Amino acid sequence: MSLSGDEEEEVLSLLRSAGDRVTTPRRLLVRSLFEAAGHRTAEELAAEIQARAPDVSISTVYRNLEELERLGVVTHSHLGHGPASYHLASAAHGHLVCRKCDAHVEIAEGFFADLRRRAIAEFGFAIDPHHFAVIGLCAGCQAETEDPGDITAG
Ligand SMILES: [Zn+2]
Ligand SMILES: [Zn+2]
Ligand SMILES: [Zn+2]
Repeated sequence: MSLSGDEEEEVLSLLRSAGDRVTTPRRLLVRSLFEAAGHRTAEELAAEIQARAPDVSISTVYRNLEELERLGVVTHSHLGHGPASYHLASAAHGHLVCRKCDAHVEIAEGFFADLRRRAIAEFGFAIDPHHFAVIGLCAGCQAETEDPGDITAG
């Protein structure tokens, strides 16, 4: 997927039409999100923004992330025990995270299609498969694990 300057402008006009002023911190946050793919914590985003505008506080960054999430522009995932990671909602995807070596595998939303269908059919529940990572053991760590039965433990 390519993220162009046009899409950045679209987000800013979405903010305007939602009645939000496009303040400098807000504009810088949107720019940071579009500049680099991948996920960053609120702290990492704040550091990028503060490199350009030292006055912007971390609480301003949190507030703006919340607003962008409310508008469906940004989403966050929990990849482990650390702080949440943020990225553009248009780039939403699932994660497999190895509990031993911390390796991350990104997987397409469609990967969870069957699970999503079953959760709706059996529980009437609409799952959000990218919110939390699926934790397990990567191929390399499985090979190192002496007892393969251990894969289901912990
Ligand atoms: Zn969350
Ligand atoms: Zn591993
Ligand atoms: Zn990811």
